[in-house]
Amino acid sequence: MTVYNFCAGPAMLPPAVMEKAQAEFINWQGLGVSVMEISHRSKPFLKLAEECEASLRRLMNISDEFEVLFMHGGGRGHFSAVPLNLHLDNAPGVYVENGIWSVGATKEGAKFTQVESVDIRTDKDGQFDILPVSEWPLPQNASFIHYCPNETIDGIEIFEVPKHPTAPIVADMSSMILSREINVDDFDLIYAGAQKNIGPSGLSIAIIRKSLLEREGLPKPAILDYAIEAKQNSMYNTPPTYAWYLAAEVFKYLETIGGVPAMEKHNKEKAALLYDYIDSSDFYYNKVAESCRSLMNVPFWLKDDALNDTFLQQAEEHGLMALEGHRFVGGMRASIYNAMPKEGIEALIAFMKKFAKEHS
Ligand code: PMP
Repeated sequence: MTVYNFCAGPAMLPPAVMEKAQAEFINWQGLGVSVMEISHRSKPFLKLAEECEASLRRLMNISDEFEVLFMHGGGRGHFSAVPLNLHLDNAPGVYVENGIWSVGATKEGAKFTQVESVDIRTDKDGQFDILPVSEWPLPQNASFIHYCPNETIDGIEIFEVPKHPTAPIVADMSSMILSREINVDDFDLIYAGAQKNIGPSGLSIAIIRKSLLEREGLPKPAILDYAIEAKQNSMYNTPPTYAWYLAAEVFKYLETIGGVPAMEKHNKEKAALLYDYIDSSDFYYNKVAESCRSLMNVPFWLKDDALNDTFLQQAEEHGLMALEGHRFVGGMRASIYNAMPKEGIEALIAFMKKFAKEHS
């Protein structure tokens, strides 16, 4: 039975990458040892790191105005690093809130700096919706504007990019990086935990405008200091080398299959299939307004909650793994990141149809 893994993260990786990693697991590049057993400062690893960065730069069209950092600490590490690095005296860090992760970022920020939160959620006819970017009440005085383009738990995605006359734009792209085309120049700092569209957990990526590295910010642990990481080529301390290797393989693979434009097309097709089916059904429903539905995380609910456990159990029996919604919101969630093939969506819809028929 083919198993499709809908986990929100750590999430499935492209099978081609997993197979390659398996083939070279204990003997990488003929060295007779694993890539995880060699020094991060050795020539072969430095070459890997260089190629990995170059590949990501090509995929996302990242200019020389930006540093690309490979760090520890996941998404939450950056929740702390952002205020620590970007704090300014007498200007709040502005946090745009549209779901659970962006609210989490605000709470972390408030430990270190003055914060101002801007809630952009609206609730139209019981549907989750958000204000268009032009209506976000962003204050003039801000040390940075932080927002989360894709709320992994709520399934809410923001497709526009905010602008501010003075403050840098910071985006937590943990669950949508590389899923669709973005213009990196519209941002000043992009960060992401790796464990959805990049590789395994343990690695995170920051893409930061070089001029921002001059900000002094607050006293901070050196491993969360973007300027130190940049100066040390992401090797201030021992980096998560195996995760970095897998990320490099994922980037290489993405380049061979048409890069981000091809992924975007693929992701839009997959999401449309699933949302269309949910909308057409009177057994399942989705609570997110059409204009801000996530391409990556599709929450859905059964009209009869009492069937949730049976649904999940039978889904597993059909090879459909990890569909349980986040404990904060209940229901179901299908995370359909880059690596999820269209066949996975088709198998899910076929099962959902069968289940609905049997329980209507
Ligand atoms: N931001 C977003 C949007 C996320 O989805 C997650 C994790 N799912 C995080 C931050 C936290 O990431 P981590 O667990 O790597 O700290």
